[in-house]
Amino acid sequence: EGAPAPGSNPLSLEQAAAGSYAGARTFEELPLSKYSKAALKEAGYVNLTAIQRAALPHALAGRDILGAAKTGSGKTLCFLVPLVEKLYRQAWTRLDGLGALVLTPTRELAMQIFEELVKVGKRHDMSAGLLIGGKAVQEEATRVNAMNILVATPGRLLQHMDETPGFETHALQLLVLDEADRILDMGFAATLDAIIANLPTEGRQTLLFSATQTKSVRDLARLSLQQPEYLAVHSEA
Ligand code: ADP
Ligand code: MG
Repeated sequence: EGAPAPGSNPLSLEQAAAGSYAGARTFEELPLSKYSKAALKEAGYVNLTAIQRAALPHALAGRDILGAAKTGSGKTLCFLVPLVEKLYRQAWTRLDGLGALVLTPTRELAMQIFEELVKVGKRHDMSAGLLIGGKAVQEEATRVNAMNILVATPGRLLQHMDETPGFETHALQLLVLDEADRILDMGFAATLDAIIANLPTEGRQTLLFSATQTKSVRDLARLSLQQPEYLAVHSEA
């Protein structure tokens, strides 16, 4: 750490674009609700990782993001914290329907994200569900329509879009594409295109995270993001 050398500019252009929170080093310094701050503290999260320092100020300011950082660098909180804050700031209630959707390639990852969401969102009053298959689609369908937040694998989500009566995405505020490179590697490109074609674009923020930035990830970004911030962290988190 330490103060910048006299006369040097402590802010990069990228940091300046993120606004006054660009220099934040801790969750406490970010513009978060007291509910999120308390939950993060209870979960033992204090200092931001490198990708969190880069991504959170932009994501909290409502911008689209294409973020790349290797596995284990803390990408999950880069989208879960803005997700919870976005719905909280809009005073989203259980009656407002689906506000945020997180897509991830595998059931295992979806369950991990869901566990993290339960921790981060525990002091907020929001309903969240997992759509990962493994249960009868009918059984999931009865609960899907009541959820503010869904964490899903692409195949299962598209199945609900096609088959579940009353499944509505028109109010969606935030779309997260997590591990986008793996989603594409696993052959879900067409499924993703179909999902994205069904979602509203007006007023929707999109956060795309990936361990690598391949050509197919950039193609997906062109399809799903609007004037995104490109953030890549290569060093240790
Ligand atoms: P990625 O999605 O980049 O692979 P994760 O979001 O799964 O990384 O985070 C990897 C690990 O780091 C998890 O165990 C998570 O709890 C932990 N972690 C994430 N952010 C922080 C933080 N700011 N402080 C301490 N641990 C963190
Ligand atoms: Mg991850």
